[in-house]
Amino acid sequence: MTENSTLQAEVLVLGGGPGGYTAAFRAADLGKQVVLVERYPTLGGVCLNVGCIPSKALLHTAALLHETREASHFGVHFAEPEIKLDEVRNFKDRTVKTLTTGLTALAKQRKVTVVQGTGQFASPHTLTVTAADGTRTVEFQHCIIAAGSQPVKLPGFPQDDPRVMDSTGALALADIPERLLVIGGGIIGLEMATVYHALGAEITVVELMDQLIPGCDADLVRPLHQRIKKQYANIYLKTRVTGIEVKADGLHVSFEGEGAPATDRFDRVLVAVGRKPNGTLIGAERAGVQVSERGFIAVDKQQRTNVPHIFAIGDIVGNPMLAHKATHEGKVAAEVIAGHKVAFQALTIPSVAYTDPEVAWMGLTETEAQARGIAYDKAVFPWAASGRALGIGRKEGLTKILCDKETRRILGAGICGPHAGDLIAEAVLALEMGADAEDIGLSIHPHPTLAETFAFAAEMVEGTITDLYVKK
Ligand code: NAD
Repeated sequence: MTENSTLQAEVLVLGGGPGGYTAAFRAADLGKQVVLVERYPTLGGVCLNVGCIPSKALLHTAALLHETREASHFGVHFAEPEIKLDEVRNFKDRTVKTLTTGLTALAKQRKVTVVQGTGQFASPHTLTVTAADGTRTVEFQHCIIAAGSQPVKLPGFPQDDPRVMDSTGALALADIPERLLVIGGGIIGLEMATVYHALGAEITVVELMDQLIPGCDADLVRPLHQRIKKQYANIYLKTRVTGIEVKADGLHVSFEGEGAPATDRFDRVLVAVGRKPNGTLIGAERAGVQVSERGFIAVDKQQRTNVPHIFAIGDIVGNPMLAHKATHEGKVAAEVIAGHKVAFQALTIPSVAYTDPEVAWMGLTETEAQARGIAYDKAVFPWAASGRALGIGRKEGLTKILCDKETRRILGAGICGPHAGDLIAEAVLALEMGADAEDIGLSIHPHPTLAETFAFAAEMVEGTITDLYVKK
């Protein structure tokens, strides 16, 4: 990089995660000349490099281990597997590399200029990019901020001890601790607990609220809680960690809450208590872009900030911090810049915990419906009545549907069970298409599948189900 060389961009995208690269690629496809600035050497952001993708690669390994261990129920007896941690780590790293290399190729094909370095606004139309080999200025007509988020750190706890990990540290898989404490019973905490438990660690989970995955309806989380309760050493709810003391023999953690001991010793601790936006790290004030105290950037339905030629998308604009929300918003921003009359109009953003069983939900939750006084009809189809679920030995699952009492249209749905994350996509489509319970029940679902359970739940709402006897 030459000192102070200046690049011109019709569209500058700041941040190369799923939101940023999608926005850059869409803008390029719409004929714009695009510069994409990313601080790390690979594109893909947290999701591809240290988030969704590596965690799913490891969760597949975990699922395989669970299945072989449970196969004795089906009459197949495996010996204890030999786990070669270097090879487990390599598979995850290869998966990530395939995708990040693919992204570099996709950027090249579209003639998107990728600049590596840390971007900070210098004025409303310029960004300074600082890298090891110098600085560079990018002058832009339009900008899309997609600078993401970072894990929340708990103040007062050791920050430099490698045994106190965030999600990135946990995914690095340095070793398998004998005893792992997971602080935060949300999605990251429970997914990493699934991985480390399968690889042999003894798990304790501590959660501040009165249930795991607090944003989700309690009945959908229950089958997961029941299953992991038997597998993990402890799950403490309504409990907080008050201190972590580093000693030669491990991390001595003190607790305050129901059922938890005053202190306990762990070999590693994963802190997974949420993420915070990177809004305060990009010099936004020099561009005139308003950033809230918490670091969020407010946008309108077209992803526009208070500065009309600067847009923002993804984790930095608000919750939920999910890759599929960011990509959708990225397309909206790119299309608005290209002159299309579009806006963010999705009716729902589905959530999935890729635990075992998976928990997935979309649309209105029952908790929200009750809080907002919305009249609904509900049905919960138990997977114990699904031939397919019984055939895979997973009768604990359930599929729930909420429909409007008057119009019968679907309002929300939730699924707990293997593959719930894939199954929920049908409910999202039903909601977006304005389907009612009858539409869903009358759509012929292949038999025998787990997907059928969604149609069965709709038939329960309609009173037409024959696979169960529901007293009128
Ligand atoms: P989260 O908000 O999902 O969960 C954090 C949990 O920690 C909450 O249950 C909260 O009550 C609890 N908590 C907070 N402070 C605590 C404390 N001091 N002691 C004990 N518990 C405490 O956050 P996360 O799991 O860190 O995930 C961060 C973000 O990343 C979320 O927006 C999440 O949706 C996203 N993410 C999504 C996926 C996915 O879609 N599968 C996977 C990973 C992360």
